[in-house]
Amino acid sequence: LIITVFSCINETTKPQHSTLNESIEKKVDSVLALMQINEKIGQLVQYSGKWNATGPSSTKGDQHKFEKLKKGEVGSMLNITSVASIRETQKIVMEHSRLKIPLIFAYDVIHGYKTIFPIPLGETASWDLGIMKQSAAIAAKESAASGLNWTFAPMIDVSRDARWGRVMEGAGEDPYLNAVVGVARIEGFQGDDLSDIYTIAACAKHFAGYGFGEAGRDYNTVNVGANELHNTILPPFKAAAEAGAATFMNAFNDIDGIPATGHKILQRDILKGAWNWNGLVVSDWGSIGEMRAHGYAEDKKHAAEIALNAGSDMDMESYAYEAHLETLLSENKISINQIDDAVKRVLRLKFELGLFDDPYKYCNEQREKDNVYSKENLAIARDVAKKSIVLLKNENNVLPLSKQIRSIAVIGPLADDKDSPLGNWRAKGEYNSAVSLLEGIKNAVGENTKIHYAKGVDLTIPTIEPGANQFLLPLKFNTTDDSGITKAVEAAKKSDVVLLAIGENAYQTGEGRSQTNIGFLGLQNELLEAVYKVNKNIVIVLMNGRPMDLSRASEIAPSILECWHLGSESGNAIADVVFGDYNPSGKLPVSFPHNVGQEPLYYNQKNTGRPYSNKHVTFSGYRDAPKKALYPFGFGLSYTTFSYDNLQLDKTEIKASDDIKASVNVTNTGNRAGEEVVQLYIRDLVGSFVRPVKELKGFEKVMLKGGETKTINFTINAKMLQFYTANNKWEVEPGKFNVWVGGDSTTSLKKSFSVIE
Ligand code: BGC
Repeated sequence: LIITVFSCINETTKPQHSTLNESIEKKVDSVLALMQINEKIGQLVQYSGKWNATGPSSTKGDQHKFEKLKKGEVGSMLNITSVASIRETQKIVMEHSRLKIPLIFAYDVIHGYKTIFPIPLGETASWDLGIMKQSAAIAAKESAASGLNWTFAPMIDVSRDARWGRVMEGAGEDPYLNAVVGVARIEGFQGDDLSDIYTIAACAKHFAGYGFGEAGRDYNTVNVGANELHNTILPPFKAAAEAGAATFMNAFNDIDGIPATGHKILQRDILKGAWNWNGLVVSDWGSIGEMRAHGYAEDKKHAAEIALNAGSDMDMESYAYEAHLETLLSENKISINQIDDAVKRVLRLKFELGLFDDPYKYCNEQREKDNVYSKENLAIARDVAKKSIVLLKNENNVLPLSKQIRSIAVIGPLADDKDSPLGNWRAKGEYNSAVSLLEGIKNAVGENTKIHYAKGVDLTIPTIEPGANQFLLPLKFNTTDDSGITKAVEAAKKSDVVLLAIGENAYQTGEGRSQTNIGFLGLQNELLEAVYKVNKNIVIVLMNGRPMDLSRASEIAPSILECWHLGSESGNAIADVVFGDYNPSGKLPVSFPHNVGQEPLYYNQKNTGRPYSNKHVTFSGYRDAPKKALYPFGFGLSYTTFSYDNLQLDKTEIKASDDIKASVNVTNTGNRAGEEVVQLYIRDLVGSFVRPVKELKGFEKVMLKGGETKTINFTINAKMLQFYTANNKWEVEPGKFNVWVGGDSTTSLKKSFSVIE
């Protein structure tokens, strides 16, 4: 099976990164020629250093790292932040080691550094690649100004199970959206030139399959075959390699029995072979050593052998390479060519970053002060945040509110929470710094509007301590103390409208944060029902990191605003939308189910042989729940309305190499100007692998004035029609194709064409 699943990769596209810079290669070779084996192996070692400018502590672990740094036996450090600490650590190598090969400093800069942008899933809802590139560029600027060189982002794992905590960290359920968003973020982080003092190296992760963990349990086993691997999981990574992502990270999971970290076919044959990519593969944290727990390696030495042979270049925190590569080499279990190839990948990146010219070039306190958390960056964070909001429901045009409104109740455990909007994965020490919803609303209204605030219920007990370590944080939900509900009911009673901020706190999603219940935990449902009894005019301001079960909420609340975890400017951005200063334009990058039992739920599914229904039952669905999403992929409302008509194709029959043009008229049927994300979906009706019922292949975000019509054109080309076929090749198979254009994935505006031999 392995042969059919993974072999015979006939890829043709050569990624940009395969074009090596001759002068850099010469320098890399000249450094390599000077290196002893311990120094070579040292370049393949990455340590975490949670120390400040005073340097390593006297603990055994830190002292070990300190000694290794002095000998030049470390290639990279992660988790050291601030110019002063980075400079001190670099100095250890520069002042003591024989060859003075500079360290690269890495950090998880996932959605902003100190200026926090919306969580990646939320930002994806903007469908605005320009602003995603811009926010990554700002994150790069701030982190590079703080001395960092390398971020472990973007995560481009297609994720289809809302139970998985890391859904928040990627671009959702669609391979194409993950690919284009991933590329935008890579371009933002890396800019045009890695040696620029304001850019950092990106890392496409997690290679591969991490988002497909069975049942949404983090780190869990992944069971996919050739079709799913090549057509769903790998396309974003192929796009990242082609876009020149400097590094890749492998993954914790196994794929059909082979841990990704020890997966030779994925790393050597596909990534470095067929895709001809010359960047650096770093392991995930401890994932080399963890092959023992998988039952794939006998001991750490065996794990090091498997990982290096499979193409994992750098060992993050397993201590396996430093302990065993030299012996493995003497035993001929690995080769010097493999070590040299891995070392060259590390050196290449260090030259590209310009660290050999000046190891301290990113260390400048003034630059750090000037660039981090600046006013300009915060203004952009607000812009990105408001564009990431999705209006899910708006009956009777409850929204937008008039700024002359007499009274607003701002209620809920997240209403004045200044921490949750920062989301999971924010920089060390960054907490309680977001503009809360309550603050945002107060900033927006005048003296004549009365704001009645009530928390209602605490979400967790005890409430989360600022700066708590997310991995050690037990999340215990408040299921008993409802004493605050009375005050919330009073506030709701005396107000014209209720803004009810409920959902998830920052640490309900992220790594190690899978949940079986994707509803409103704690006493939030009780709060909703109590408020609803006295005031039906409710806007649910949802804050969350995953698709949630909104079935009851959407039944009773006339309006729902999906606000994710929006970052530093959260409250101001929400106020922009609530009062109509910005007309919401976001669209869901993930399907929202009716209930958790539907998960994994995604629009681009394959049909079974029994897709149809009769009066009583949808055969391939459930007896107790619909088969479809409550809020589908691509969906989002505006304060105006749009209509689509006159979908045209310029041909009905083409050869595989020809292009075909699709055009559609989109009209703003209301009075207010607004943006619409026009989406193009394709279906290949018959394939040598069963093809998805619909696949996103293009989109354009357009601004339309009230009453305006625009014709939107798409060019459909071979790249959009091809897939990884049963021949183990990317090719277009002749046959019939459907094309849909519309405002979400359920659109029925359709045309067809054929590809002939
Ligand atoms: C995560 C990675 C992250 C790494 C370093 C791991 O636990 O899976 O995504 O980059 O830690 O912090």
